[in-house]
Amino acid sequence: MYDVIMIGGGLHGGFSAWHLLQREPGLKIALIEQDSTYSHAASARSSAGVRVLFSQEENLRMSQYGHEVYGNFGDLMALDGEPQPLSFWRQGYMFMANTSEQAEDMATNHALQTGMGAEASLLDATALQEMLPSFRTDDVLLACYSPKDGWLDPYGALTSLRRKNQALGAEYIDGVVSGFEQSGGKVTGVVLQGGQTLTTDWVVNATGAWGGEISKMMGFEMPVVPLPRTQFYFECREEVEPFGLTIDGRGCSVRPEGKGYITGRTHFERAGAFNWDVNEEHFYNENWPLAAHRVPKFEAVKLKASWTCHYAYSTWDGNMLMGAWPGQPENFLMTTGYSGHGLQHAPAAGRAISELILDGGFQTLDLTRFAASRVAEGRKEPERGVKA
Ligand SMILES: Cc1cc2nc3c(=O)[nH]c(=O)nc-3n(C[C@H](O)[C@H](O)[C@H](O)COP(=O)(O)OP(=O)(O)OC[C@H]3O[C@@H](n4cnc5c(N)ncnc54)[C@H](O)[C@@H]3O)c2cc1C
Repeated sequence: MYDVIMIGGGLHGGFSAWHLLQREPGLKIALIEQDSTYSHAASARSSAGVRVLFSQEENLRMSQYGHEVYGNFGDLMALDGEPQPLSFWRQGYMFMANTSEQAEDMATNHALQTGMGAEASLLDATALQEMLPSFRTDDVLLACYSPKDGWLDPYGALTSLRRKNQALGAEYIDGVVSGFEQSGGKVTGVVLQGGQTLTTDWVVNATGAWGGEISKMMGFEMPVVPLPRTQFYFECREEVEPFGLTIDGRGCSVRPEGKGYITGRTHFERAGAFNWDVNEEHFYNENWPLAAHRVPKFEAVKLKASWTCHYAYSTWDGNMLMGAWPGQPENFLMTTGYSGHGLQHAPAAGRAISELILDGGFQTLDLTRFAASRVAEGRKEPERGVKA
């Protein structure tokens, strides 16, 4: 008998458990994970960027809390008083606008971001060129730079969180959830492949890109599907000055990684099914030309590694789905649909899940805007500007 079962032992299941155990150390919590190596989990394969550059206050506030938690991660996750350090490179974020529509959105968002205490500045092409001499800037209408953002080691965060949760008493169970038991309008049990049933007061669907499959096992359709995204790691012969995580308005992101760089591109039209294939042609035909357009020194690069993983993409409006589903048991909570911002939002989402369970509603940050119930209400809440 458990108080709470998380389906999925990634960052969202993990931070939900951690927040619950911070407040109620005696809670009996299980995290059921089908692959304890996390070889396919987004949490382990993420670009792991943390940025304040959002257009919606809730997303921005969630990132600010992400900064707070990941910034103090070593101490927060300490085991027997020993910090578990996390590498966090605060090398900045740079968004570039190439169309007048993108530039207008950027300026509007910038006013909102700085109004909420975010450190960010707008740069014109001349200022950008001075800052990044290796970059081509003649087609950039406006750029937005936030110097304190950056990226971290996702696998390190995931494994430290898991160890901390275990030290706090959470059980990570190797198993595949294959169904549910319900009674009296509540979900009462989680069924594992093999037939074992674990009884519980609460269930949290924290399965990321698998979230839609889990909802089908409960008997309802949730608009969350896998969106494949391939990441490419390349090295460049020529030296390029240090730069932050750059998202080009032409549809490509690049950031430094070790001796080289990681680049990726979101193809929304590929959303719908898992596809783990890596097609290096995409690098040569799409990513590389875009990267080399922006940084001409990238004309001479060597592709060294590639991997595909999946965003949990909400086809409803691209934003997260949080809380119970109308007409379904109120003790079955969703936390999925985070696209490309779920790593930075996991600490705040986990806190929100803990509040839904312990307080019956949001306390520290009102996330009603992203309630799963908005689908039934017909309410769409899309991010403006950079969506993925
Ligand atoms: C390529 C890429 C780049 C990204 N870049 C960024 C970024 O820069 N910044 C950012 O903030 N976010 C980024 N994200 C998003 C972020 O990584 C994810 O939103 C976040 O990690 C999702 O965490 P999760 O715990 O919800 O899902 P996951 O980490 O995928 O964990 C879900 C777990 O559920 C398990 N599971 C599924 N079904 C079952 C079942 N039936 N039974 C038991 N277990 C099950 C899976 O095995 C998996 O381990 C990126 C994602 C990708 C794919």
